Amino acid sequence: MSLDGAVAVVTGGSRGIGAAVVRSLLRDGAKVYSLSRTADDGAAGLPDRGDYTWLATDLTDEAAVDARLGEVLAENRGVQVLVNNAGITRDGLVFRMSRQDWDAVLALNLTAAFLTCKVVARDMARRRAGSIVNISSVVGLTGNPGQTNYCASKAGIIGFSKSLAREVAGRGVRVNVVAPGYIETGMTASLGDRVRETITGLIPLGRTGTPEEVAELVAFLASARSAYVTGQVLQVDGGLSM
Ligand code: NDP
Repeated sequence: MSLDGAVAVVTGGSRGIGAAVVRSLLRDGAKVYSLSRTADDGAAGLPDRGDYTWLATDLTDEAAVDARLGEVLAENRGVQVLVNNAGITRDGLVFRMSRQDWDAVLALNLTAAFLTCKVVARDMARRRAGSIVNISSVVGLTGNPGQTNYCASKAGIIGFSKSLAREVAGRGVRVNVVAPGYIETGMTASLGDRVRETITGLIPLGRTGTPEEVAELVAFLASARSAYVTGQVLQVDGGLSM
């Protein structure tokens, strides 16, 4: 299997895209640690749960992030794969957006990735190997009304990832970004049928995506199958943003 013997850390692996990523990495042979606040079901549905550990973590708490990642590094010979997936939305037009909603989205969607990379990328660089995959969104490329905070965080993660990719490439560490389009998860479940129909009408493939379709791309980028790919933003969106 392409990730046999690899240790992987996935943030927000408790549901949605993160849970699908956990299952793909386990399927490919990795030992997986999932960091989220609640719900220990990242490996649910797998016939064999594999080598899966859930670590309760609020990723906006720097001390907790450092402590959890310290435990993972102490238990293993390094981390070979890091997937920064955890994310939230707090939508609203900019004139009505509260400072709290702005800060909450930036704190998780952007700053938490900085915090995990600070610890894990340093260790990867020391060991001269590793693959980091950060989850952005197509709206980080296009913008979206009502989502200035979210789009700023998702555009920010692209700039952050490309800069980090340049900083660590010489040490054999790769950093890539996956930008999903409209994927059926809890995050999109609250959008009404009319919004869903309108968006689906804009997608060339004519349908919304599944968490598993995002996870396949993440698993590819995590593995040596993508050994010559770094600093890239790959859209998985049914053609929405082409
Ligand atoms: P979900 O809402 O289904 O899952 C979000 C995950 O983030 C959960 O595992 C949640 O776990 C975790 N999380 C939230 N807050 C925290 C926190 N403070 N600390 C730790 N973990 C936290 O979202 P999706 O699966 O839809 O989205 C996953 C990623 O994909 C996000 O970055 C999102 O922006 C991105 N994305 C999603 C799209 C979609 O259409 N669904 C489109 C484009 C991008 P818990 O609550 O247990 O902490």
